[in-house]
Amino acid sequence: GVILMAMEKTYLMVKPDGVQRGLVGKVITRLEEKGLKLVAMKMAQLGPEVLKEHYSHLASKPFYPIIEESMMAAPVILTCWEGIDAVEVVREMAGTTNGRKAMPGTLRGDFCVSHQENIVHTSDSLETAEKELKRFFGPAPARKCTRRSGRFFPRQKADFSLRIPSPVKRSPEMK
Ligand code: ADP
Repeated sequence: GVILMAMEKTYLMVKPDGVQRGLVGKVITRLEEKGLKLVAMKMAQLGPEVLKEHYSHLASKPFYPIIEESMMAAPVILTCWEGIDAVEVVREMAGTTNGRKAMPGTLRGDFCVSHQENIVHTSDSLETAEKELKRFFGPAPARKCTRRSGRFFPRQKADFSLRIPSPVKRSPEMK
């Protein structure tokens, strides 16, 4: 049968702590080396209004003022990435929120020890990604000023690991 693979766009932001610590290149490199395609990028200084919208799910928390202060402490790097299942792939690469608990091999696991200043933000679902791309890149996300040509980019092929393997003969000691 045909396996449908979802080509997705997701949003990743290098937070002020990542920018100040000089980790922008490392973050971008990891995602590029993974095979994701960078389709839009810019630097911006965020203000309180956009942050309240972006972190509306945390606006009532007692630590919200700390998030706001931290997110406005320096410019951020806004990026849009494209690939098969890109939302989940990028989120997994970021690791869990608390840098002290994030797995080694993830961006947060390898580069931070803070729960709050954890280098990157990544969209948590396709729906959120669409909203966030609109919020930070405007109504036609990554339409202007993006890479168009696939000429230099290794094509992502469908992954056939979901094919049911033919039965394998096992020797008695294999279980
Ligand atoms: P994520 O960024 O992993 O999607 P959340 O949406 O829950 O996580 O939180 C947004 C950001 O707010 C986190 O990345 C972190 O910077 C900050 N934050 C969330 N919860 C806490 C907390 N308990 N203590 C400190 N900072 C927090």
